[in-house]
Amino acid sequence: MLDQNLRPSPIVPTIDLDGSGAQHGFLRLPFSRDDSAWGSVMVPIAVISNGRGPTALLTGGNHGDEYEGPLALYDLARTLDPQDVSGTVIILPALNYPAFKAGTRTSPIDKGNMNRSFPGRPDGTVTEKIADYVQRHLLPRADIVLDFHSGGRTLDFVPFCAAHVLPDKVQEARAFAAVEAFAAPWSVKMLEIDAVGMFDTAAEDMGKTFVTTELGGGGTARARTVRIARRGVMNLLRHAGIVSGAVEQSPTAWLDMPSDDCFSFAEDDGMIETMIDLGDRVEQGMVVARIHGVGRTGTAPQEIRAKMDGLLAARHFPGLVKAGDCAAVVAVPTG
Ligand SMILES: [Zn+2]
Repeated sequence: MLDQNLRPSPIVPTIDLDGSGAQHGFLRLPFSRDDSAWGSVMVPIAVISNGRGPTALLTGGNHGDEYEGPLALYDLARTLDPQDVSGTVIILPALNYPAFKAGTRTSPIDKGNMNRSFPGRPDGTVTEKIADYVQRHLLPRADIVLDFHSGGRTLDFVPFCAAHVLPDKVQEARAFAAVEAFAAPWSVKMLEIDAVGMFDTAAEDMGKTFVTTELGGGGTARARTVRIARRGVMNLLRHAGIVSGAVEQSPTAWLDMPSDDCFSFAEDDGMIETMIDLGDRVEQGMVVARIHGVGRTGTAPQEIRAKMDGLLAARHFPGLVKAGDCAAVVAVPTG
């Protein structure tokens, strides 16, 4: 299973990944630095296992400033009774732990964006070493993978669960069935701006059933979106047959992201004014945001127009925007 050309991972788990019951520990990664010569990065991990059955790998904090996933997963790790499990649940509530501790998207140690670091390297940066461990030691164990995201400090989304359109239609159908079971208010057939190096791609290339979320954003979590996260992860475990009981259904509306025209980018620095709110309908050509120059008075704002009919699925969150920032995302309701 392991690539013989790669050296072993320096990461040592402090718990037995094959053990049963509820175990709470760390992935310990040696990290020598000024304030700790023989120190380590300690990434929290819980393994809750009971008998035979499928394995779910659940991750939050892939980006360190997104909170619905960590809130749901620290809670699940604390409360999930092994007696209620058939199989194994591996939980990493704060995957890029250095980033999570700093409250930043990327790691303060190496500026590593975990979701652009796969498949990682055993002899790379701290972020790459964590990715490599997930790639070679955790992903192969998993049947189903849920990686929580939200918009972080710079984006805000309508709350959705998503999977990708895949070349293997059987694998794709499994993923969309899992998205349906998560039962977020919106479900998305997702297009990526840049899929290279993503955890998603690593899991999908291994044939895993992979689902992800975008559950709000702005560098915080809301009561409603945390409820969606908590219910969604339990639904996914029921759907996978790891926890017994029926999926708690609620209506979900499917959205498509058919092309790059979904995304609109700022072409000026300035102050952004959203012209419609998340979830509102848009028509092609409609001004969805304006960017006001602030260096002087008397200049006209840049108008950002929707390139298709749909609804506003995401928007830039902070009041100030820079040229190149993603300003708005339009998705298309289907069925
Ligand atoms: Zn994210």
